[in-house]
Amino acid sequence: MIDLSVIIPIYNEEKNIPVLMQRLQQVINPMNLSVEYVFINDGSGDNSIVLIKQLSLTNEAIKFIDFSRNFGHQIAVTAGLDKCRGNAAVIIDADLQDPPELIAELYAKMKTGYEVVYAKRLTRSGESFFKKFTARIFYRLIARITTIDIPLDTGDFRIIHRKVIDVLKQMPEQQKYLRGQIPWIGFRTSYVEYNRDPRLEGETGYSLKKMLHLAIDGITSFSNFPLRFATVTGFVVSAVGFLWILAALYSHFISKNTVQGWTSMLIAVLFMGGIQLLSIGIIGEYISRMRANICNRPLYVIGETNL
Ligand code: UDP
Ligand code: MG
Repeated sequence: MIDLSVIIPIYNEEKNIPVLMQRLQQVINPMNLSVEYVFINDGSGDNSIVLIKQLSLTNEAIKFIDFSRNFGHQIAVTAGLDKCRGNAAVIIDADLQDPPELIAELYAKMKTGYEVVYAKRLTRSGESFFKKFTARIFYRLIARITTIDIPLDTGDFRIIHRKVIDVLKQMPEQQKYLRGQIPWIGFRTSYVEYNRDPRLEGETGYSLKKMLHLAIDGITSFSNFPLRFATVTGFVVSAVGFLWILAALYSHFISKNTVQGWTSMLIAVLFMGGIQLLSIGIIGEYISRMRANICNRPLYVIGETNL
């Protein structure tokens, strides 16, 4: 049995891979473990996969899974966890934003009796104000509206025990939000803190669109709050509407003053229209995710692998 699998999703990281491997080995070799490095090439447009394959020729511990196209970071990590053979797995970004040196600490902490040890970000340098601000709000929002304990300011950088991996493999949902799935599973959980470094080379693979997708996947998978929000807003608006009807009847029959009112009409129509579209949109988000799950397509397609 392999002691530790290192799961590394790759999307255009050719410039980072050599330094990453060097730093990973520097910290893991002295730990005296049997280890495998599982690279998942998520449809990179650069030479990442060529480089990884080359490395795998000289180092047996290097494994690769080459996707047929870009499926997204969460799915890449999921594929790595599906195929890895370690008794524990560390999920780490390839761009060296997650310092590999922390793996020793994560592993040691796990060995003191935890199944999950996540790495909590104290600071994040080299990232835009917009990214930090939206991430901060998002982590707080989702923690508020879900019933499970999703830790704040924590990405996927963490170590999980084989017990957790085996449960994850039984969770078939199409929308992968590992930051929710792992706390949902439970087990003894702890964390270590770290300062997040800037990306070494290259550019982020997380476009605004991908981030928004991840956020909505996370929320719809772990909270019914938006649906309840639509219901409650509907009730409140109906109550106000009812009072408004009474007021309209009063001015028609009693005060006989009904000519004016273009502004209030317009406000009412626009407001109602907005609330209705919003509610339909919320329901639509859930339905589209149900549809994806009913279709039940494979989560990813592997072109080639040595695992
Ligand atoms: N990544 C991936 N598929 C994607 C986007 C990113 O596998 O579609 C990988 C990427 O190579 C990196 C990790 O996921 O190892 C985190 O991505 P990135 O650093 O681009 O995101 P950020 O840190 O900017 O949020
Ligand atoms: Mg990054």
